[in-house]
Amino acid sequence: MKIGVLALQGDFDRHAKALARCGVSRSEEIQAVEVRKPAELADVDGLIIPGGESTTLLKLMEAWGFVPALEKFHAEGRPIFGTCAGLILLARDVDNPRQFSLDFIDVGVERNAYGRQRESFEARGSASLEGRPTPVEMVFIRAPRIRRVGAGVETLAHHADEPVLARQGSVLVATFHPELTDDPTIHEYFCAMVARAAARRGAAA
Ligand code: GLN
Repeated sequence: MKIGVLALQGDFDRHAKALARCGVSRSEEIQAVEVRKPAELADVDGLIIPGGESTTLLKLMEAWGFVPALEKFHAEGRPIFGTCAGLILLARDVDNPRQFSLDFIDVGVERNAYGRQRESFEARGSASLEGRPTPVEMVFIRAPRIRRVGAGVETLAHHADEPVLARQGSVLVATFHPELTDDPTIHEYFCAMVARAAARRGAAA
């Protein structure tokens, strides 16, 4: 199984390491592939859009023609996981300030929503994954807040009573950075999503 990490800007290297750890725990080869050009999406079963600066990421994505390529990738049901700036790019509406987003998941987000004193912090939150309550370590860095969750969206984790991890079909988003902790829970959950989608596509082919 191959999982791409969008490598235009931001902390893609730590995601690749977290994916390698998932391969060990799932005893299955998981190859993390850096994606720098839209054509490289054809070769991966799922994609992680990492944190960084969403405005910069957006400019690079538009310059390289990633928007139509990602729309096709999403329409094929291949899973996408966006962390922090990645979530901002995948959301339906973005505020503070308003900017273009892909609208792959029906949430509204506010950028840089934790104010100055708490721009970056670590916390423990609680997730509900595959029906099981699971503690999750979270690192927030100039994080957005999810201000609105659409009817078709499932909230999978909270911190301080707010949604911080959400899923709609093949799209998973987190306001925090799971790749900066040693806690493999969230990447393992995404790898399982990708494995199931790949098996479905294989069966349909
Ligand atoms: N503050 C960044 C933005 O709005 C996101 C920060 C991050 O990805 N850690 O794009």
